[in-house]
Amino acid sequence: MTPAASPAALPRSDRPVLVTGAAGFVGSHLCERLIERGHTVIALDDFSTGHADHLKALRRHTRLQFVRHDIAQPLPEGLPACGAIFNLACPASPAHYQRHPVATMLTSTVGTWRLLELARGSGAVFLQASTSEVYGDPQVHPQHESYWGHANPIGPRSCYDEGKRAAEALCYAYQREHGLSVRVARLFNCYGPRLRPGDGRVVSNFIVQALAGRPLTVYGDGRQTRSFCYVSDTVRALLALMDSDWSQPVNIGNPAEHTVLELADRVRALTGSDSPLVFRPLPADDPVRRRPDIGTARSVLHWRPEVALDEGLALTIEYLRERAEPTLAVLHADWHAAPELVRGRTLQAVNRQD
Ligand code: UDP
Repeated sequence: MTPAASPAALPRSDRPVLVTGAAGFVGSHLCERLIERGHTVIALDDFSTGHADHLKALRRHTRLQFVRHDIAQPLPEGLPACGAIFNLACPASPAHYQRHPVATMLTSTVGTWRLLELARGSGAVFLQASTSEVYGDPQVHPQHESYWGHANPIGPRSCYDEGKRAAEALCYAYQREHGLSVRVARLFNCYGPRLRPGDGRVVSNFIVQALAGRPLTVYGDGRQTRSFCYVSDTVRALLALMDSDWSQPVNIGNPAEHTVLELADRVRALTGSDSPLVFRPLPADDPVRRRPDIGTARSVLHWRPEVALDEGLALTIEYLRERAEPTLAVLHADWHAAPELVRGRTLQAVNRQD
């Protein structure tokens, strides 16, 4: 562990840093990097999709204080004045957020509002983890930050897409009305260790299925594309953005674009699996193409992704090999096609088991 000497360049770095979604997939990696850099971290999570194990390495660290909390509820009394807030709280897997659309929307709207108020009160710099989903099913390719997007405001993804769009709008409302210093990071398909076996997103589904020798569930014809960014690259960009004085949205992603079929092939090759593919209906509003234009991140943050897909997948496979519980991934994978399979199972019930 690095000494507490140099809390680097984060704004007001002598004050604690608040991270919400801290026990989540990206949030827990971010907390580790912040602690390494010497910061004191107040970590909030309600464990709706995160897991205490993700913060295991920091459990006894004196500079990490964990508070179990849902940010849509009034914030706990007595939080110290923070210098920076990273708002990463929100389920990000379509399978999870579509099962809890109201909570998802409230997390991004009411929750973000509460944190913006906290930031205003303490003069903290506020970073919102936004998403490529703000572009909806984009009609412009690749997606530059100046593109306003093509999102369905009432479809099954809208709780997430419109929630995140509202969160961005709230950030800029606070900037305009209160002079708050904001950062908005639009994350594109982050993956890596700590994706949970039952997460339901394509990378973890394919890996868990391949490791179990079960068919890989391809939605639609598999020719839709995504651009997958390894989690260490994502976290490096979040820190660089908070360190910077750039207040406009920034795309954070890996511009290498792959079809879902290509991903399935890579996963089968890297796991040595001969699992067949099984085709399932394409979920409603599933974006057809997605690739970030990262010109802003390159020029403003001097950031570019460094971990190639095969390398990142190998590390993720290694992680999931020890944790994969095939049945749950199949439940999530089949969910779009056969929701009755999971009817009656709450998210918490699922999470307790994966
Ligand atoms: N997908 C798939 N099989 C799965 C899970 C997802 O073919 O088991 C597809 C999904 O339809 C989408 C892409 O993979 O086109 C990425 O889905 P994911 O849920 O990872 O994230 P999204 O980018 O859609 O939010």
